[in-house]
Amino acid sequence: MADEKEQLRYDPATIEQKWQERWAADPALYAAEPATSNKPKYYVLEMLPYPSGQLHMGHVRNYAIGDALARQMWMRGYNVLHPMGWDAFGLPAENAALKNNTPPREWTLANIAAMKRQFKRLGMGFDWATEVTTCMPDYYRWNQWFFLRMYEKGLAYRKKSKVNWCPECATVLANEQVIDGRCWRHEDTKVEQRDLTQWFLRITAYAQELLDDLDKLDGWPEKVRTMQRNWIGRSEGTEVDFLLENIDPSAEKKRIRVFTTRVDTIFGATSLQLAPEHPLVAEFCATDSGLKHQIDELLAEQKKARETGDLGAIEKHGIPTGRFAINPYSGEEIPIWVANYVLMEYGTGAIMSVPAHDERDFEFATKYAIEIRQVIKPVQDEDGAKLLPFISEDGVLVNSGEYNGLTCAQAQQKLQQVAVRDGFGEAKIIFRLKDWGVSRQRYWGTPIPMIYCEHDGVVPVPDDRLPVLLPDEIEITQQGGSPLARVPSFVNTTCPKCGGPAKRETDTMDTFVDSSWYFYRYTDAKDSKAPFDPAIVKYWFPIDQYIGGVEHAILHLIYSRFWTKVMRDLGLVENNEPVERLFTQGMVIKDGAKMSKSKGNVVSPDDMVARYGADSARMYSLFAAPPDRDLDWQEDGVAGVSRFLGRVWRIVTKYAPIARNGGAQKIGPPTGLSLKLLRKLHQTIAKISLDFEGRWHFNTDVAAIMELVNEMQNADAQLTAGEIPAPVVRELLTNLVLLLAPFAPFLAAELWEELGGEGAILRAPWPKSDPGLAKEDEIEIPVQINGKLITVVRVAADADSKSIEAAALASEKVRDRTAGKTVVKVIVVPGRAVNLVVK
Ligand SMILES: [Zn+2]
Ligand SMILES: [Zn+2]
Repeated sequence: MADEKEQLRYDPATIEQKWQERWAADPALYAAEPATSNKPKYYVLEMLPYPSGQLHMGHVRNYAIGDALARQMWMRGYNVLHPMGWDAFGLPAENAALKNNTPPREWTLANIAAMKRQFKRLGMGFDWATEVTTCMPDYYRWNQWFFLRMYEKGLAYRKKSKVNWCPECATVLANEQVIDGRCWRHEDTKVEQRDLTQWFLRITAYAQELLDDLDKLDGWPEKVRTMQRNWIGRSEGTEVDFLLENIDPSAEKKRIRVFTTRVDTIFGATSLQLAPEHPLVAEFCATDSGLKHQIDELLAEQKKARETGDLGAIEKHGIPTGRFAINPYSGEEIPIWVANYVLMEYGTGAIMSVPAHDERDFEFATKYAIEIRQVIKPVQDEDGAKLLPFISEDGVLVNSGEYNGLTCAQAQQKLQQVAVRDGFGEAKIIFRLKDWGVSRQRYWGTPIPMIYCEHDGVVPVPDDRLPVLLPDEIEITQQGGSPLARVPSFVNTTCPKCGGPAKRETDTMDTFVDSSWYFYRYTDAKDSKAPFDPAIVKYWFPIDQYIGGVEHAILHLIYSRFWTKVMRDLGLVENNEPVERLFTQGMVIKDGAKMSKSKGNVVSPDDMVARYGADSARMYSLFAAPPDRDLDWQEDGVAGVSRFLGRVWRIVTKYAPIARNGGAQKIGPPTGLSLKLLRKLHQTIAKISLDFEGRWHFNTDVAAIMELVNEMQNADAQLTAGEIPAPVVRELLTNLVLLLAPFAPFLAAELWEELGGEGAILRAPWPKSDPGLAKEDEIEIPVQINGKLITVVRVAADADSKSIEAAALASEKVRDRTAGKTVVKVIVVPGRAVNLVVK
């Protein structure tokens, strides 16, 4: 019999190869039906990978989650769109070109081919007919097209400004790509500041809407919404003009505009502080070289603090200018200072300093012995001076002339009205969010479709001359500046307006432009006339479920929301938001640290697949932790899942002959062991079905399937003896395999065939739990007295409060404990617990 045992070995390599070939030969299997389908639609999407050439375990987990969901929705009869593509532009391709002397395009396409093989080997159910590769002209031409539409609407513009520069990337970065003063790609590289003329997208035009609509995104994790709210950073306040007290009394007085959220404290302003880069500071310096020297020092300190990302903790340093400004409400002259913690890009670059009611101002005034004047008194506490700085808005005004006695809220309103009436100020809302700088001094990106002509200035490339192709013939070097500027055949062109000689823009677009709208393209990936057909997008959008890493919370996830709103205003889409529900999965770590080459703790998916099979690698990545938590990779765990799948394989193949015969037979209601097994089955179906609705604790789902298989194994003797009727065996095995299908698709397909299942298991209906069968006869209910667990009583599963209370009071242990005492209160939670309050 040794031979037979030998044959009964689960062999994932053979099974998975067989099904990989079958699926490859059937491209319709994972294809969505057209938008005319009468099935309900479901668009499930995982964030597209950068084609580095190798999937990592984080990818496997991300895609195993999305693929499980897609498969379950297919089985539930939905028209599922589950596409995949490549975020294919970006710096690594240029670095690889330098290192290996391979052109970026060649390197990228080879990587894509390699990763696509890995995806197929893992059995991911993607519709490859809708594949999007962002470095291909048929895709990036639409980046250019969108850019031109934004330019027409004033949403794309060019300006000289201070920008973030990563020396390692040798390019500009957007604010969102600077994390704690370092490059998002190079955690060890400090970002520098440079003055450059750059293209910007006016995301700030949508700041308010981006903020407001976060409230509607109920299907998003709260932490992502909070991160976006903080990033957008809305402040409501008042802008007020102070007049500059002139040295020359005959000259016209200059205004210094400040922004404050607390205009009610303005009588407590004892100095005005300017950012070192405020234009007025340059004027002061022009006639005072000593001052200029000191200001340069402040600038250097600010630059350093920016680079360490620690502006908030900067050692406060200020310089008095010897000039004064006039408070428009009181006429008081207050000294003008320049301070290293005041930023030109926030508000107006000038603030009023109210040390009695602001932590930072208090610290500054204490350091430089500037007057601290209390103008808000706490409502409760008469002796408020001890509390300074007093920050709360819960107070009334003092030392504020005619406004004394007003509450802070009243004063804010009143003082703002006065400023508007008398023409020295206005209500103002400011945002922390800045416009998105999209110019990159790199080669491997979308060329910005702009032309510079000596006569006509900036001229957009006409639509009929799109795409502006990225030239293939280019030498990648480490020289500074845009590589495209060194390709004369690219740079030199003719002006679309006057036909004269002109030069092309040589910067390329930030690659986050590519990912801002790629998921629309999936719905109509071959369209050569438009980015997509709005009618098709209308059917599929918004995305029902998006899955990816939380590291994109204020990068991709804010840019793509902006892009959707722009497309809506261009009349291309009707949805206001791209994504209905968002899920951010945890990281895959090993030995307590994120997997990385430098730590030498990288686990290769290929390795795992070769050793245990794709099903085991996938299922383990779902089983080892809840999907939203970090997963600590343990190879023992993968081996364990592989052994479990081996048991499933043996049990199903062993009893498949009985099950195949059990189709048409009719039997009465199940009893005994049959009932016990069916009850477990239907409880498992109910649990997993519910979990797929949004909880996604796939780890507990896999555990539930394991329990079910255990019970079936425990009944091995009875199964072998034929004591379980064939229709019951059939029901058990068929449903077990169906439940397994989203998690271990290869094995499920194989066993489905073994059981004589019709067609693809992906099209078989998802099992339905029979509540009658799932219901327990009796359940155990814990009984507590004064919060302490005393005993457990058995009651009918559907027992009502009255009978549960009766059972509890009748229990011997409860009678012992309550003897001679009074039961004051009985609280029954049906199906869960009984609590007695006894005195
Ligand atoms: Zn960098
Ligand atoms: Zn011209």
